Amino acid sequence: MSHFIVLGAGMAGVGAALALQARGHGVTVVDRREPGSETSHGNAGVIQAEAAEPYALPRDLPTLLSYALGRSNDVLWHLRDLPGAAPALWRYFRCSAPQRHARTSQIYARLTARATDDHAPLVAASNSEGLIRRTGLGEFHRSERSLETAARNAERIGRTYGVPSRVLVGADMTRAEPALRGDPAGLLLWEGPWSCSDPGALTRAYAALLEARGGQVVTGDALSLRQQGSGWRVQGADGPVDGTDAVVCLGPWSPDLLSRLGYRVPMVWKRGYHGHFASPAQLVRPYLDAEYGVVLASMTLGLRLSTGAELVSRDAPRTLRQLDRGRRAAGELVEIGAPIEDGIWHGHRPCLPDMLPLVGSAPRHRGLWFDFGHGHQGFTLGPTTGAMLAEIVDGRRDDLTDALSPANRGL
Ligand SMILES: Cc1cc2nc3c(=O)[nH]c(=O)nc-3n(C[C@H](O)[C@H](O)[C@H](O)COP(=O)(O)OP(=O)(O)OC[C@H]3O[C@@H](n4cnc5c(N)ncnc54)[C@H](O)[C@@H]3O)c2cc1C
Repeated sequence: MSHFIVLGAGMAGVGAALALQARGHGVTVVDRREPGSETSHGNAGVIQAEAAEPYALPRDLPTLLSYALGRSNDVLWHLRDLPGAAPALWRYFRCSAPQRHARTSQIYARLTARATDDHAPLVAASNSEGLIRRTGLGEFHRSERSLETAARNAERIGRTYGVPSRVLVGADMTRAEPALRGDPAGLLLWEGPWSCSDPGALTRAYAALLEARGGQVVTGDALSLRQQGSGWRVQGADGPVDGTDAVVCLGPWSPDLLSRLGYRVPMVWKRGYHGHFASPAQLVRPYLDAEYGVVLASMTLGLRLSTGAELVSRDAPRTLRQLDRGRRAAGELVEIGAPIEDGIWHGHRPCLPDMLPLVGSAPRHRGLWFDFGHGHQGFTLGPTTGAMLAEIVDGRRDDLTDALSPANRGL
């Protein structure tokens, strides 16, 4: 039987490792940090069953102008980082053309539609029920116009992909979220999503489940990966780790390793920040403040505010503009409370220009596999693409695996 070295212990790596293990393969997960310490820790914690369509780049002039002039809090960009990001952004813009985006969404929707079902057995087996809420995801809209546009879009998404939602206003809205203050025009409630009060802890619980089932999780540097005989070797803190196969699940860092192996991965890093606040409010579910692009979620540590996208190079310095603006605005909707010290984090959504994760075999290396590039929804999709990878390893080929395959994506 094969032995897989899984590089990266975020939700993608742990999800892939569990699925490979379930199919009888040996698995060692290698990470330089504790499982679930990076992007899979810092996200908004939503298992996004409603995300049938991946985020396209806007192509209409008013939205582009509001981004260009820095009026939007959803997206922030910096002139200094544009030259480096331009080639990948240009591809992303082209892939965002309506017809192409509609085709991509047909694939994407099949992944997000099964995400809660793929998490369910892992939540149960890892005793993580206490971290999960099955209460959906809300969007607060301040103006009638914004609510109407969102409701029309939700109605289209429901018709096209079967994703349920409803609009609540007035007393119905306050009943749905007793901690609401202020008077937004309404609440769009997506009913299918789940949410997690500590995404890093859920990833660690899944990693502990892998170990309990006989897998290994070790510390090591993925960049030390080398071909060794007919297999692969990576340097672990306690000595070399050998495998017949290796899987790259390094999220935002995947291109660093793959460039050494001759693959140019055009990644767009969409940075996001979170801050924690000592809010007295315990929200029933996470909420997007639609006008300001921030998500509010009650977490174990306090109220977590997560921001939209900042288009930066991965190592650029922090800018707290979106978080500060989002905090001031969200304070009109719920009581935010004082900042919790050291509660500010930033990380990067690992986005590929064609908006689909890369899942499948490396085009030019035997026994090397990819499972990364989950963009805005990797916490949702880790177990799903992991299950798909394990099936691909065992020979599955169909339109879905073709769409995700690195060989068909110009690498
Ligand atoms: C602000 C924000 C909010 C988000 N909200 C959501 C949400 O609500 N729902 C959702 O589904 N998704 C959300 N996302 C996206 C989601 O967090 C990511 O898509 C997902 O976490 C990616 O998982 P991953 O396992 O690929 O990467 P990671 O979790 O980053 O894991 C990669 C791992 O690789 C390891 N690593 C890197 N380099 C090396 C090396 N050289 N050697 C060894 N190990 C290495 C890292 O330590 C890390 O553990 C959000 C993202 C952000 C930034």
